[in-house]
Amino acid sequence: MRTATLQKSDLDRVIDLLSQADYRVIAPQNQPRLEGPDSIDVATFQEVQPGDSHNIGEGLSTTGIKPFLFPKDEPLFAYENRGKKVVLTEVSLDFPKTVILGVRPCDVASVSSLDAVFSDKNAGFNDELFTKRLEKTTFVSYSCTEPDVSCFCTSVGLAPDSDKGSDLHMTELPDGTLHVEVKTEAGEKIAAVIDSLLSGEGDAVARQQAGVVAAEKITRLRDSASLLPWLQDLNNFGDEMWQRLGEKCLGCGACTFECPTCHCFDIVDENSGNKGYRVKFWDSCQFDHFTLHASGHNTRNSQFERYRNRFNCKFKIYEDVFGEKGCVGCGRCIRGCPVNLDITEYMAEVAQKATTSAS
Ligand code: SF4
Ligand code: SF4
Repeated sequence: MRTATLQKSDLDRVIDLLSQADYRVIAPQNQPRLEGPDSIDVATFQEVQPGDSHNIGEGLSTTGIKPFLFPKDEPLFAYENRGKKVVLTEVSLDFPKTVILGVRPCDVASVSSLDAVFSDKNAGFNDELFTKRLEKTTFVSYSCTEPDVSCFCTSVGLAPDSDKGSDLHMTELPDGTLHVEVKTEAGEKIAAVIDSLLSGEGDAVARQQAGVVAAEKITRLRDSASLLPWLQDLNNFGDEMWQRLGEKCLGCGACTFECPTCHCFDIVDENSGNKGYRVKFWDSCQFDHFTLHASGHNTRNSQFERYRNRFNCKFKIYEDVFGEKGCVGCGRCIRGCPVNLDITEYMAEVAQKATTSAS
């Protein structure tokens, strides 16, 4: 498909043109986290309008794009008790045509992990709140040139310049221009909208070199190939490592809420008088009540069992069920953990144990 060059200084014009073409544009934007002089700016993905500031291509966002496909909470339907009748009102599935602009390679790759769960073809399951949003969303991804110290995408089969899941991919070159690659028909539509800003065929050699240079900056390198066989060996389910891990973990759930691939949710009725909503909201396998039965029995009664589940979910369960890892190496769970629990430390420990047991 088509390749071209775009000036980085024209990203504002890209937002203008996409907005004029009736796309809702989502992009990373710096926002103050606190009031007053101690405030720090934090980058999160937000809806942007023409003229708004953005930080596309500048650093990593604290949170990913998950809330635009799988919101933190949303109603499934409204209900009202009218005498002996219950009247249900369905929610609209008519979502806006959306472009997510400047999404990093790990985050766009994570969409297939969510899609695997919410539209499980094998189980004949389709969560339309997710899939209808996905149908309306086009992903314009942006290679990383300065990976964070917590990033480890190259250890899970990705790279700072991966285009997996992208519709149109941009890579910033040393001369400040952007190399543009159209990957899908949805990406072709975006290219048509911004055509007046595109020129030439781009510099494929410089683009590839930029990817190599960025990958060399990643310092967390782990052998993830040994994870699956070690985790599949039931003898290791009771390994002392899990207890050690569990003693450190607070069960706060920050790692799951910041994780682009974590997808667990709960459903409750939120009532006011004789009416209310049935609401779906994010949950976390790190919470002690996550597996608590009404009887009082808890199938994961201690924190080490809960963290073991999360680790297994990323590197065993996803692979067993969907044939790919449930981790894209974004490093957010490392950056966000209040007790510095580092998933890559335990990846390294498993690799070490696997090597020792094989020799
Ligand atoms: S487990 Fe951690 S590194 Fe992996 S995708 Fe989730 S937040 Fe990112
Ligand atoms: S963020 Fe850290 S402390 Fe909190 S649940 Fe995750 S691993 Fe445990």
